[in-house]
Amino acid sequence: MDLTRLPASELAGLLSTGEVSSVEATRASLDRIAEADGDLHAFLHVAGDAAIARASEIDQLRRDGRELGPLAGVPIAIKDVLCTNDMPSTAASRILEGWIPPYDATVVARLRAAGMVPLGKTNMDEFAMGSSTEHSAYGPTRNPWALDRIPGGSGGGSAAAVAAFEAPVALGSDTGGSIRQPAAVTGTVGMKPTYGGVSRYGAIALASSLDQVGPVSRTVLDSALVHDVIGGHDPHDSTSLRDPWPSFAEAARAGAASGSLAGVRVGVVRELDSEGFQAGVRQRFDEALALMQNAGAEIVEISAPNFEYAIAAYYLILPAEASSNLAKYDSVRFGLRVTPGETATVEQVMSASRGAGFGPEVKRRIILGTYALSAGYYDAYYGSAQKVRTLIQRDFAAAFAQVDVLVSPAAPTTAFRLGEKLDDPLAMYLNDITTIPANLAGVPGMGLPIGLAPEDGLPVGIQLMAPAREDARLYTVGATLEALLHESWGGPLLDRLPADFGRSAARESGQPDHLVPAPGPGTEPDGGTA
Ligand code: GLN
Repeated sequence: MDLTRLPASELAGLLSTGEVSSVEATRASLDRIAEADGDLHAFLHVAGDAAIARASEIDQLRRDGRELGPLAGVPIAIKDVLCTNDMPSTAASRILEGWIPPYDATVVARLRAAGMVPLGKTNMDEFAMGSSTEHSAYGPTRNPWALDRIPGGSGGGSAAAVAAFEAPVALGSDTGGSIRQPAAVTGTVGMKPTYGGVSRYGAIALASSLDQVGPVSRTVLDSALVHDVIGGHDPHDSTSLRDPWPSFAEAARAGAASGSLAGVRVGVVRELDSEGFQAGVRQRFDEALALMQNAGAEIVEISAPNFEYAIAAYYLILPAEASSNLAKYDSVRFGLRVTPGETATVEQVMSASRGAGFGPEVKRRIILGTYALSAGYYDAYYGSAQKVRTLIQRDFAAAFAQVDVLVSPAAPTTAFRLGEKLDDPLAMYLNDITTIPANLAGVPGMGLPIGLAPEDGLPVGIQLMAPAREDARLYTVGATLEALLHESWGGPLLDRLPADFGRSAARESGQPDHLVPAPGPGTEPDGGTA
């Protein structure tokens, strides 16, 4: 049995009966990373021996008869935006190269306490700015469906690791779509929880009013199980909700078991299903709607007129908050320090350090944000964007007065080619057209695979959104839809992942072999660091 192919829920079952040990499962993942990550570069750091040591501790606890959580012994990959006290935490930036935080993010502390085994840190766009993972300072991650394609971003490393069976589950963070869009283009499941539902303590901040940590997995149930572990109130995060949360795993199991969507009102957001979207994406989306309708759902068209302004508002609010959050990388307390000459002033050291430590996209957003917040322009830009944000929240409220969930394609296209949008920030920003509204309103959103686009054979995702605090509804509806899809396909979509990562398809389409590259910098599956 290939342990790496099992969903976390099934692996956890074998671990709990003692049929499989955590050391065996962890070693299987590490071997798979050693085999695949030279091509993919999903990891910036692999825990190696530390992971095996932790797994063996969990096995011992189990042998001692200790009561363990449902995911104890299951390996997990962690996006490098999350602080880990035993591994570098760089947010894929040079400015934090080699930095090992003195503490764990709350979500990391919780998964450790639940007995999960961290496999390492995954690649991402620098400070989570991007939609392709090409803005990583340590080289891009590649899409396991086709190595010449991007894995989405900013959490492309976590999505690629899960899609390529390097890890059963992973953690991501989603500020404007960085969990859902990578899920869509890699054929995985990704959940952005309700804002405040999962702690942000120890998540390196991009835009604090938008950031949310969440799970990445191959099944809806697996995301629910991880969400159950990491979610819930945290006194270290002042925006953390105090609500008691239901069991998301139970919600997912109920959905999968029912097979019915009778009585569920599904709203299709007119503004998020544009004619400009790729034909194969729209086709699979329409088929998914038909499947939901057959299962009893009532499909309603919904208009959310202010969603049209979501990207514009986001690209003022996000840079404004980011410019403020990133001011702390001043070379004084931690991170890279560049000293330009013996007599350099403090300002000159800061300027040289930030100049060398930040990549071009980060600098672009700091400049944009600083401008948007400057005295003469604050009201015109930041103030207006906040008003648009309120209008978008009202659109959601009006929509959810009519329907239970909203749906849209999770991304406008399948995975694009590496390099295709790198020099065109606006084209890159437009990728988040469907995912950004949920962040602006704080509502939960899930990305779920719904098939392969006929024209390029690459994964397509649907996005499901629910009112704030109704994350459980997404797990129920998502698991029902997933079960219907698996039935119609005769198995999970990832069973069709090419074993050679789409190399042959790239060759057939006349692409040169250099698109199947040598490993990027920093891939040292034996425990090395980027
Ligand atoms: N791609 C979006 C951006 O560049 C979203 C990023 C994210 O969710 N972290 O800002």
